[in-house]
Amino acid sequence: MKIAMKLIENWFSERYSDNLQLSFRVMDQLLSVKTDFQRIDIFETYDFGKLMSIDGTVQLTERDEFVYHEMITMVPSAIFRGRPKKGLVIGGGDGGTASQLLKLGFDHVVNVEIDGQVVEVSKKYFPDISKAFSDSRVKLLVDDGIKFVHDTDEKFDLVIVDSTDPVGPAEGLFNSNFYKYVRKLLNKGGLVVTQSGSPFYQPKALTLANSAMKAVFPNVATYTAFIPTYPSGFWSFTVASDSELQPGDASWLPDGKYFNKEVLKGCFMLPEFVKALIRENE
Ligand code: SAM
Repeated sequence: MKIAMKLIENWFSERYSDNLQLSFRVMDQLLSVKTDFQRIDIFETYDFGKLMSIDGTVQLTERDEFVYHEMITMVPSAIFRGRPKKGLVIGGGDGGTASQLLKLGFDHVVNVEIDGQVVEVSKKYFPDISKAFSDSRVKLLVDDGIKFVHDTDEKFDLVIVDSTDPVGPAEGLFNSNFYKYVRKLLNKGGLVVTQSGSPFYQPKALTLANSAMKAVFPNVATYTAFIPTYPSGFWSFTVASDSELQPGDASWLPDGKYFNKEVLKGCFMLPEFVKALIRENE
């Protein structure tokens, strides 16, 4: 008896350049939808579980989202003096950042996501990661984060910019005008953190974030983490505050799956080419 062979395999590829891409073999494409802001795709992959991409760039996968969500929340929480309780998330429509803030004991989180469809899709395909959206401590607003920071008088211990890369609706989240408004929303000792891209493949995201923050805050620092499904796996975050950016003892912070106290110290130690990028932009 002949066994039918499946000759065509399905792949999702994120293009990094004309000559380079990262490809995931996929079992199925679960969704492809064009919203008013962007295209959202969901794939069931072989190696990384479900994957969400926006405009062809990986936003999260079930297997490695913990790195990004721990590092964007736990590092600034460790620097804040005392225990941060009030958080603002700009972007973050998958709910992973808000869910992680609740795990850390935040009692009030405002999450402002511009695209309501990212939230709906995440609730359906990533119910565990997005569970914060059904928690009464989280207030979800479907709105432009730039408009929100202009209009609100609310104050926060931590502002987290969990956005797409600096194109389209996220472009205005990488400029100093945005950070001028963010600064007014910070409680004493408060911090703002943003994802600032791959230093290797997206140096512009890192330099834009650095210069925008430095125009407004006296203290700015970049740290890095290993995120396998983001370009090059080597990812940066940039944090800013009016207060000094020295990690406290943060004994209240538990270890995560990626974050621990050694990672907290080590993540601020930057390779020379990253330091040079930041220096050249000063
Ligand atoms: N972890 C991800 C990454 O670095 O690839 C980011 C994930 S999260 C899905 C990014 C979200 O930022 C998107 O859902 C997008 O709609 C949202 N976003 C982009 N610009 C925004 C803006 N101006 N205000 C609020 N949300 C915005």
